Amino acid sequence: MIVVKIGGSEGLNYDLIADDLAALVKAEQPLILIHGGSSLTNKVSEQLGHPPEFVTSVSGYTSRRTDKRTMEIFQMVYCGQMNKSIVERLQMRGVNAVGLSGMDGRLWEGTRKAAIKVVQNGRRRVLRDDYTGKVEKVNLTLLTGLLDMGYLPVLTPPAISYEGEAINVDGDRAAAATAAAFNAEALIILSNVPGLLEKFPDESSLIRHIPAKKIDQFMSVAQDRMKKKVMGAQEALAQGIGRIVFADGRVENPISRALEGEGTVIGG
Ligand code: ADP
Repeated sequence: MIVVKIGGSEGLNYDLIADDLAALVKAEQPLILIHGGSSLTNKVSEQLGHPPEFVTSVSGYTSRRTDKRTMEIFQMVYCGQMNKSIVERLQMRGVNAVGLSGMDGRLWEGTRKAAIKVVQNGRRRVLRDDYTGKVEKVNLTLLTGLLDMGYLPVLTPPAISYEGEAINVDGDRAAAATAAAFNAEALIILSNVPGLLEKFPDESSLIRHIPAKKIDQFMSVAQDRMKKKVMGAQEALAQGIGRIVFADGRVENPISRALEGEGTVIGG
């Protein structure tokens, strides 16, 4: 099993990604696809008069402030346009894709954070009306059933809390949890950069390989959004995934190239 996460930032080439996925599916490579949608969510939020807000946790991680209205917009974009446009691209290429959110069939379950401690303008604040959390359980039965019937699952946040509320979860970390549940051979994370850059945004400073034992040292190299990806990789390694690749989602055959070792290879 290979789990592929495609980002939601500008610059990714969804057509080239779909071409490569179709070729891999044709070659009978078992796959699960997970996607994001952050950039379009920001745009739509602006257009709907509810501009995006980002909060930084006390430990230094940035995440989207997800109040009720944000969650509605989030679902429109992630479960709507993003998910369905990827499903359509795959269907056009003869892949029988099924798009689901983490809420459907309780695919991704987790705890909703009761309160998040954030730092705003140098001051600490506690948010209690935020709908965020982390994937703790993956519905393997549902995914295995779909795969056995020949469908390609295309998954997107939100996940579902144990109480049944939609929760915003980080896509990279959800992908890591999914890869772990399947004991996947590899987790491929495609974004609009060639991988982890030593001196971001200098693309010639690509880090080619990070041994599993050294991952902690690379946490400081990643800034803002990349931090969560490195954290996802750390979690995937801890859960037994042998190889994680951060690779370029703007190029031809992005997944095959990542499998051949292009990008930042973490672990084996
Ligand atoms: P996606 O939406 O594709 O999942 P993100 O936008 O969340 O991806 O994360 C990738 C972004 O992280 C890059 O576009 C880049 O702006 C940022 N970044 C920060 N530090 C680094 C780094 N050291 N190497 C690569 N990218 C970095």
